[in-house]
Order: sequence, then structure tokens, then C-alpha cells
Amino acid sequence: MTAQIHPERLRRRLKTLGAIGRDPSGGITRPFGSAADGEARRWFFAEAADAGLTVTVDAAGNQWAVWPGTAGEKTIAAGSHLDTVPQGGMYDGAAGVILALEAIETLKEAGYRPHHPLAVVAFTGEEPNPFGLSTLGSRLLTGKLKAAALKNVTDPAGRTLAEALREVGGDLDSADHLTPDFLAAFIEPHVEQSGRLDQAGLPLGLVDVITGIHRDRIVFQGEQNHAGTTRPEDRRDALMAFGEAVTAFEALLGDGVIGTIGQAAIFPNAINIVPSRVEYVAEMRSVDENRLAERVQEHRERLTRLALRRGVTVHVTNVLNQAPRALHPDIHRLLVDRLVYRQIPVTTLSSLAGHDATHLADVVPTGMLFIRSLGGKSHCPEESSRLEDLALGAQVLADALLVLDREIRRLSHAQTL
Ligand SMILES: [Zn+2]
Repeated sequence: MTAQIHPERLRRRLKTLGAIGRDPSGGITRPFGSAADGEARRWFFAEAADAGLTVTVDAAGNQWAVWPGTAGEKTIAAGSHLDTVPQGGMYDGAAGVILALEAIETLKEAGYRPHHPLAVVAFTGEEPNPFGLSTLGSRLLTGKLKAAALKNVTDPAGRTLAEALREVGGDLDSADHLTPDFLAAFIEPHVEQSGRLDQAGLPLGLVDVITGIHRDRIVFQGEQNHAGTTRPEDRRDALMAFGEAVTAFEALLGDGVIGTIGQAAIFPNAINIVPSRVEYVAEMRSVDENRLAERVQEHRERLTRLALRRGVTVHVTNVLNQAPRALHPDIHRLLVDRLVYRQIPVTTLSSLAGHDATHLADVVPTGMLFIRSLGGKSHCPEESSRLEDLALGAQVLADALLVLDREIRRLSHAQTL
């Protein structure tokens, strides 16, 4: 079957979606729960309905656009997310949803009749948002987040998460009944977000493992005092402790572990007061689970020692501990074959960003297809990918969905799929 994707349709959709949530200070700001997120959701459903797909929202607010199958089999899904970081770009997440829609619409136009339902999915709140919950939709779908624990979650304005979900057609009370059992396989197409493909001159890449992410919230508590009259030996300066902690943190990085302190607050934050308290989040990432755990442990020990020496207290709370996740070897092999078929050089990378696929991979055979990011820029307005690379990605995805639809039962007998 020759199913030919339409680059012009891809371009139009990327452009239209990229205009939703334009931030006057630059880029796109479209977090979950915002008016722009709502508008993007409505736009996606209108496009999917125009393409002849059946649109539904689950209890987690995840959007599904389904092309029903002929044999009542489990669903094969592809997609990503529509929400963005503050002042983000137009490709992270959005490109994956649009590519999946293009791939399925193309198969439909070519007259293909799927055995399995083929679905485009847009997951709720993949990025951090005012509710403090990333990968919200995929974690609720896979049972990693429980509704009871989210009952009292609000954004800084006091709006409850339950209310925000209701506004997009979800229902927090029944989110615990969600199950991913109806899924046979999931493929997430996504821009690479780093410069490895660009440097290698390759349009597409495959993912074998998604990075582990560990985040500790750290509070140094010292003593507030006068900036002039407090003698050096009497000071218990929380900011100086933080300064030393930052250097100690950096010294622990490297050799497969990267880290970031991207958020910090000083109290009381006044010119002539010795700071009493510093709160910050230290994040480490690695695809090596043991190495990540060792560094986290070492980091905490160093914090304890330096706090003791400086006469301040330190309090560490883990806020995220996501293990590295290997993707499914059969889906990977199938994607390798599709790249070879299209005469695209095959390269396999690890993903240094977290994705919805991390959570799906625990329960559903999952694969990821990366599209080259120009200059490796992401989570910024300059994020960019070439239309021809995106079109190639949609083509490979359409090919892969077709083969999965025909062969998933055979694969399931041969392997663990
Ligand atoms: Zn993303």
C-alpha cells in the first residue's frame, strides 16, 4: 500500500496549533488548565473529527481520536501532548500529536481497513503546570497516580485539580477506574530536544531507554539577623550554606549523570538581612539506575555534613523519583525495519527528557521515534525542526502502524509483546 503523507497539511496544523497560547514575552505558554490549553484541545478534536476519527476524553482528560478497527481488537495508539512549558516552542509534544494524526489520516485516505482501532492520543498535562504535576494524564491512565491523593491539589489561585479536569471533560473521581488494558501498543513520536541527530546529520532516531529523573526539594534553615552587627562567627547564613551546596552538587555530576538546580528562593530576601532560609530543588538524571541512586545518596550525605559544619539545619524531601525506563525491543525492531525500508540511516539514542512514554512503557509495549531538533534547542521559543524531517517521521509512523496492525498478534506469540 502506498500511503503518502501530506507535508502541507502538517505545516498548516503545526502553524495553527503554534499560534494558540502565544506569549507576549515570546514563545508559547500553554500549560494544562489554561485557556490556551483548552483552545488547543478543542482545535485538535475539530481536526480529528474532520479527519473522520471518533473523539473521546477519558477521566484523566486524555484525548483519544479513534479510527475503529474491523476485528474488535485492542487499540494501537500514537501521540504525545499538547501542553507546553512557559514560553516554550511549537514542537515539543505538539509535533507528536500532529504526526500521529497525519499518519492515521494518511492510512485512512489510502483506503486501508485496520483490524485494530488506531488512535491518536493527546495526554493531559505532560509538562510541569500550576498544579505541580507533570505527566498527569499518562500517570493517571497507568495507575501510577491515585485520585485520592490528588483530591486537595490546587493551583496557586486556589482552583482545584478536579475542577480543571472537569473543564476539559475529565472526572477525577472516576480516574482510578482507568486502565491501559485496552492498548496493544503505543508509539510516541517526539522532537529529540537535544542536538545529537542534528550533529550526526540524521533526520530521525529511535529511542531505547528514557532517562531516570530524581528531584529533591531542599530547605536550609539558618537564623535571620542584622547584616552589619552580626559577627561572622555568630552567623548561621542559609544562603552561604546553599552556595557551598551548589558547588558540592556540581562536583557530583558527570560520568553519565547530569543535574540542574533550576529553582531557588531566599528568605526573607532583603539587602540588609542575613538570609534565614533557602529553598530549592536539585534534579539529577541518568539512564543508569544504580549510578543515579548512588549520586543521590552521596549528595544527601554531603548536604548533611555541610549543614552541620555551618550550624544550619537541612531538610530534604524527595518530590520525584522516576526510574530509567527501557522501551520495548519488538517495537524498536519494527521501527528499525521501517527506517531501513525508507532508506533512512538507523541510530538509537537514549532520551534525556522524560515523556509520557516512560509511564506507558511499564504496562504497554512502547516505542519512541525522535525527529531532529535543529541546534538541539527545546523548552524555548527557538525550538525548531524541519518540515521534511517531520514529514518523514509521519511516513515512518504510518508504515509502523500498518505493520503493527497486521503483525502484532504474530509478534505477541514470538515475544513478550
Ligand atoms: Zn514533550
